[in-house]
Amino acid sequence: MISSRAELLKKAVSTERWDMIVIGGGATGLGTALDAASRGYSTLLLEANDFGKGTSSKSTKLIHGGVRYLRQGNVKMVMKALRERGRLLKNAPHIAHPLRFVIPCYKWWHKAWYGLGMKVYDALARRLGIGPSRLLSREKTLEYIPGINATGLLGGVEYWDGQFDDTRLLISIAHTAVQKKAVLLNYIEVLGLIKENGQVKGVRARDSESGEEYTFTGRSIINATGIFTDSIRRLDDPDVNPMMQAAQGIHLVVDASFLSTNTAVMVPDTDDGRVLFGVPWHGKVLIGTTDTPLKEIGINPKPLEEEIEYLLSHIARYLSRPIRPEDVQSVFAGLRPLVRSNKTDTKSISRDHTLVVSPSLLVTITGGKWTTYRQMAEDAVNRAEKVSGMVKRACPTRSIALINSEAFRSEKTADAIPKDALSHQPFHPNLPYVEEDIRHAVTSEWARTVDDVLSRRTRCLFLDASSSIEAAPAVAAIMATELGWDEGRQKEEVARFVQIAQDYLVKH
Ligand SMILES: Cc1cc2nc3c(=O)[nH]c(=O)nc-3n(C[C@H](O)[C@H](O)[C@H](O)COP(=O)(O)OP(=O)(O)OC[C@H]3O[C@@H](n4cnc5c(N)ncnc54)[C@H](O)[C@@H]3O)c2cc1C
Repeated sequence: MISSRAELLKKAVSTERWDMIVIGGGATGLGTALDAASRGYSTLLLEANDFGKGTSSKSTKLIHGGVRYLRQGNVKMVMKALRERGRLLKNAPHIAHPLRFVIPCYKWWHKAWYGLGMKVYDALARRLGIGPSRLLSREKTLEYIPGINATGLLGGVEYWDGQFDDTRLLISIAHTAVQKKAVLLNYIEVLGLIKENGQVKGVRARDSESGEEYTFTGRSIINATGIFTDSIRRLDDPDVNPMMQAAQGIHLVVDASFLSTNTAVMVPDTDDGRVLFGVPWHGKVLIGTTDTPLKEIGINPKPLEEEIEYLLSHIARYLSRPIRPEDVQSVFAGLRPLVRSNKTDTKSISRDHTLVVSPSLLVTITGGKWTTYRQMAEDAVNRAEKVSGMVKRACPTRSIALINSEAFRSEKTADAIPKDALSHQPFHPNLPYVEEDIRHAVTSEWARTVDDVLSRRTRCLFLDASSSIEAAPAVAAIMATELGWDEGRQKEEVARFVQIAQDYLVKH
């Protein structure tokens, strides 16, 4: 039985002192909470919004070493990421799986060049490799990717990487952390840091649902707030030099018939030196991504028109049927948490992670990738132990199997509910989820808003924005029965969701 938010909050408030307090509930923060709890530390995690509402719900959903970073010569980072890829595929097979990628080749030397490059990629994975890369004939390439542009196609290079569902993995990590006795709370924002003799010893936080303020005391405080890293560092020292830079990346979601239902396409070198992916996901295809430096950061980043045009025009060269704006079922934008460097273009900034400890012993872990979240967590907890004078404990997460939250959902749906029951019917004809998924998201996955359910427990908004808008009143009505919302609250919730969802629609 999963503890409810109210039960977790009660426990948080009644605990006098935590070993570790983690700020931020994305991949990095939840990974850190799981690591700390699995070493036996009493652990509290506070998330200002919903779990994964930041960057961690908006990735390309690949568990990869990063072919692009190999080209940049960052072999060490690629090797580390490939090692983590292997571990994640083993520890979370319910949500992470191998995926075939094909690089389509229209020049003869591309086949040789990329074929060789992918052999190096295979070798770096060593025994954690998924499958050997190989050259494909033109026929085989067309068989794997029926939507590819056949004009001038000479063949392709096949290789293997990992794929996952980012927010579903986040829920698995959260369930596993709670099983290890971590207390995780969404919608609690850290507003201030409490210091004793110049050292950070706790946080001041506000529950955005009740408006109530709390203080929580801990032996070590870990800042895992992604693009918001500097805002927490400024609570520690208002004059601190900023260390973060945000780069926006967007994805378009279209029908799988534009490419393939089971094979991803990778274009390794666009005109401006980027990588382009077309990845099958939940019966659709994700096309991405961009790399746009941004000065303003926020929790709901908006895709820019020029980013949409860039993706549509670039991918069109590789498709037999171009994607029109009206074919795009959803568009979503995410902000990469990049650690500043003297590089002028954000696409050249390293994706390695950074760990810093301030003079007041605030531990900050940032940068990195979803793929390396476990290693980032291990490094952060090692450092937190050290700077707060705790005796080092072994990190067990390399081999901890993550709880299969998906099985829990489907079991409940399959066993407890007759197939013809209303709760087993899709709540919208275009969306692959049923009423029971909504109830489960509320009762067992801490969903608090219509946006939580439609964006991060199910992936409706990311798959089909206009159908999600249509479904919102029905979702609010179901949530109301679990959360006791009156009609006014339901309307407010729907309006708030519709406002967020507007940015997922492509104008045409
Ligand atoms: C377009 C794009 C594509 C990507 N694709 C991939 C990919 O395919 N594979 C891969 O490995 N990586 C990918 N990444 C990178 C990966 O998504 C990120 O590195 C990772 O999600 C960052 O997680 P995080 O926990 O550090 O940050 P976030 O997920 O942003 O989490 C930080 C959290 O801190 C919370 N917070 C902020 N302030 C406070 C406060 N005061 N109190 C409490 N909480 C607070 C925020 O609400 C937020 O939820 C991609 C990134 C982008 C942008």
